[in-house]
Amino acid sequence: MDNCEQCQKLPELCVCDQIQTHKTKLHVLILQHPQEPDHEIGSARIANLALSNSTLKVGLSWRNLSAVLGKENIDPKRWAVLYLGSGVKGEVKTSQAALQFVSNKGAPIEKPSALEGVIILDGTWSQAKALWWRNAWLLKCQRVILNPKHKSLYKELRREPRKECLSTIESIAEVLEALGEKKETGQHLRDLFGKLLDKSRAKRKQKQIRE
Ligand SMILES: [Zn+2]
Repeated sequence: MDNCEQCQKLPELCVCDQIQTHKTKLHVLILQHPQEPDHEIGSARIANLALSNSTLKVGLSWRNLSAVLGKENIDPKRWAVLYLGSGVKGEVKTSQAALQFVSNKGAPIEKPSALEGVIILDGTWSQAKALWWRNAWLLKCQRVILNPKHKSLYKELRREPRKECLSTIESIAEVLEALGEKKETGQHLRDLFGKLLDKSRAKRKQKQIRE
């Protein structure tokens, strides 16, 4: 059977009929590495479908943030990129807050006042790192580090966990909640991911039975 046109997953993994659209104040920009290998439980496209104020771009490098969004005069300083965590210097006290903004040098800073959007890099750890280094304009964005309040729903299914051990869609849920978006939005994203995992587990079981 053909993959679902919307989420591009196999029919037995598709959760499209469960997706509700949520509108956030912040724009969510997901940059996906072209080789993101996880067709099974990759969650970026589902997040994109569930968030009306979001963009998913697949590629390796863009000239600047305006070029990614196809809009003029985008100020990268008003955008936060979910930082990958390595290279943070000194103690970042994230024990209390779900989210910590850091300076270019890795020092904790206050949340910037006028944020327009958040940028999430989707892929394995090394793919996300490649996206980071190939898009120098990301250095102009605000950096934010996640200190997840929720544990990831997946344990055994992911081959190469991200440093913060959350899937892309769970990271987005955490970021949005921590930045003051509606709780229901984050919860819906987590629920969708849970449903995807259920389907993925069921599919594996089916396969084992057949083998
Ligand atoms: Zn689908």
